Amino acid sequence: AAMAEPAAPRAPPDLDTDDCLGEYRHLFSPDILAGQVAFITGGGSGIGFRIAEIFMRHGCHTVIASRNLQRVSEASKKLVAATGQQCLPLSIDVRQPQSIVAAVEQALKEFGRIDILVNNAAGNFLCPASSLSFNAFKTVIDIDTIGTFNTSKVLFEKYFRDHGGVIVNITATLSYRGQALQVHAGSAKAAIDAMTRHLAVEWGPNKIRVNSLAPGPITGTEGYRRLGGKFAKEANQFEMIPLQRAGNKTEVAHSTLYLASPLSSYVTGTTLVVDGGSWLTSANNFPAMLGFWAAGANTNQ
Ligand code: NAP
Repeated sequence: AAMAEPAAPRAPPDLDTDDCLGEYRHLFSPDILAGQVAFITGGGSGIGFRIAEIFMRHGCHTVIASRNLQRVSEASKKLVAATGQQCLPLSIDVRQPQSIVAAVEQALKEFGRIDILVNNAAGNFLCPASSLSFNAFKTVIDIDTIGTFNTSKVLFEKYFRDHGGVIVNITATLSYRGQALQVHAGSAKAAIDAMTRHLAVEWGPNKIRVNSLAPGPITGTEGYRRLGGKFAKEANQFEMIPLQRAGNKTEVAHSTLYLASPLSSYVTGTTLVVDGGSWLTSANNFPAMLGFWAAGANTNQ
C-alpha cells in the first residue's frame, strides 16, 4: 500500500517557467473533469497556464484566451503535448465584449459545450497612489473588474443560462489590510469578490456556481516578479507567513480544480484564500515598500 501522506504544508513539485510539469501525481481522481470544457482567460502564462494544465490532466479540454495569440498558441502546443487533451488558443481582450463573444462562439463551435469559466486575466504593478495616473487606475479596473464581468456575462448568455456552469474568479488578498502600493489592484479585486456574491445569488437558480480564489505570493509568476517576490524572499519575509514559504502555481491550480469540480457542489458565493495564511501575518510596511519602489526594483525583470 502507498505510504499515507499527511495533508502537510509541503508543496507539490513545480517549475518557475511557463512549461508543463515533468512529473505529476494525481491526488484527485484523474477523470474528475472528464469530458468537460474550461474557458480560461490569461491561460497562456503563469497561474492560468498551470490551471489549464492541471484541468487537462483531469480529463478537461480547454480554451485559453488572451490578447497575445502567439503566446496562447505556443502554450496550447505544450499543454496538448503533455496531457493529450485538446486546447484551443484564442485571442481576446477582456475589455472588448465583441472579442469575447467571437471567442465563445468559436469555442462552442469547436467543443459544443463550456462547463467552466476561470476569470484569471489581470494586470498589476506596484505604484503608490500619489504616483498612479488616472489612466493607470482605470486600466486595472477595466481589465480585472470589468473584464471579469464582461466574460462572465458573455458565458452566461451564450451557454451557462441554459446549461448551468461554474465560474472561478482569481482575485487577491490585497484589500484585506490595504496593501501598500496596491490601491488599484486591491480595489479591482475587492470589486470582483463583491461581483462573485452578486452573481452567485442571481445565477444560482440557473445552476451556476460562482466563487473567488485569492492567491497569496506565488512563485514562477509575473505577479511574483513584478510585486517584489525576490525582494521579499531575500528579506526573509516569507518566514512571517504561517506556512513559512511562498506558494506555487500547482497549489493554486489544485484549489481552482476543487472549486471547478463536483467536489465543491454546494459551494457558491465565497472566496477561497490560498495563501498559506500570509495576509494574516505578513508585514504591510509602507515605508519599506516605498523604498523598494523608488529604487526601481518594481520594473519587470
Ligand atoms: P500573468 O502571467 O501576467 O497573467 C495574466 C494574464 O492575463 C496574461 O496571460 C495576459 O496575457 C492576460 N491578460 C492581461 N490583460 C488582458 C486583457 N486585457 N485581455 C485578455 N487577457 C489579458 O500573471 P499571474 O501572476 O499568473 O496572475 C494570474 C492571476 O492571479 C491574476 O488574476 C493575478 O491578479 C492573480 N494573482 C497572482 C498572484 C501572484 O503571486 N502571481 C497573487 C495574487 C493574485 P496577454 O498579455 O496575452 O493578454
